[in-house]
Amino acid sequence: MEILVDLDAIAHNVRILAEHAGDAAVMVVVKADGYNHGAAEVARAALNAGAREIGTTTVAEAVALRAAGITAPILSWLNTSDADYASGIDADIELGVSALAQLEQVAAAARRLGRTAIVSLKVDTGLNRNGIPAAEFPEVLDLLEKLVADGVVRFRALFSHLAMADLPEHPVNDMQRDRFLEFIAAARDRGLEPELVHLANSAAALTRPDLAFDMVRPGIAVYGLSPIPELSDFGLRPAMTFRARVLRVKRVAAGEGVSYGHQWIADHDTTVALVPAGYADGVPRPLSGKFSVWLGGARRPQIGRVCMDQFVVDLGENESGVQPGDTAVLFGGEPGHPHADEWADALGTINYEIVCAPRGRVIRTHL
Ligand code: PLP
Repeated sequence: MEILVDLDAIAHNVRILAEHAGDAAVMVVVKADGYNHGAAEVARAALNAGAREIGTTTVAEAVALRAAGITAPILSWLNTSDADYASGIDADIELGVSALAQLEQVAAAARRLGRTAIVSLKVDTGLNRNGIPAAEFPEVLDLLEKLVADGVVRFRALFSHLAMADLPEHPVNDMQRDRFLEFIAAARDRGLEPELVHLANSAAALTRPDLAFDMVRPGIAVYGLSPIPELSDFGLRPAMTFRARVLRVKRVAAGEGVSYGHQWIADHDTTVALVPAGYADGVPRPLSGKFSVWLGGARRPQIGRVCMDQFVVDLGENESGVQPGDTAVLFGGEPGHPHADEWADALGTINYEIVCAPRGRVIRTHL
């Protein structure tokens, strides 16, 4: 079984995001191995299509991209106290700082190396997750001022993250923008001018041009999935196709049960196909009986329980022409293909989780 990643689709999606961004730059978020699409390959394709910067969570992810030959600016914004900041400084990674203690650690690493650390401050404007709270900001600015004056730190950016961008008209977005502007003003009042400021994720990049500031930071839209599927697909093209080859085809007589627990019992003689992909490969067990695959030019319903390594689909009473070795598309982006959003709806989750799921034995190929 395999996932195919269409890098032309990535390029297409980046161009759509760049159009929406207007004068703002596009930072492509490739955390978690590019939402499971391959961080280095996606970063390369996105930069070729006009993206300017790359975003990751950990320093290790960022350093791996440098090692893979990505020379564009790379920001890393979520690091634990044992993060290897020295390797980030050495690789010219922009380090996102969300607390005073973290700034101290980064500064200590820079001093040890005799290098200037590139620092961006992540401020909390209302997500109440990571980020420097307003009450702690003056203390951080005190230290930053000294570090910039001493040449230990270069102040690259001030940024924040939105809590409710998937509801573009929600007043929380405006509240976060107002608080963001207050943080920017507070830094400027101290003579600390960031080189750029940024706030928008995919949803905001596509629906709130007024929040674009100097740069937008899309993730999910780069991969062709809508951050707000109920609103629009925004002309995006899903980049990932998850597929597997049929292992065998066989008859099941009326009255026979299929798979563990006989959750599905044939009410007529039928033909079924066995697809060797299961919950160990990213086909969630709670999806049992709730999805279909594209196989032999039609949608075929999955039946019975999804197992660790395999599931069964019903080909129906009549001759389907499906043979062992035929390709079943679990989800993808072509006409007729099931969409990752269908899985997300059936599971009560978001498309992000669906594309992050294929793993382990699943082979990834870039087109
Ligand atoms: N910026 C930050 C700080 C993030 O954590 C994320 C992802 O969660 C993104 C941008 C991209 O978000 P999305 O995939 O919704 O565009």
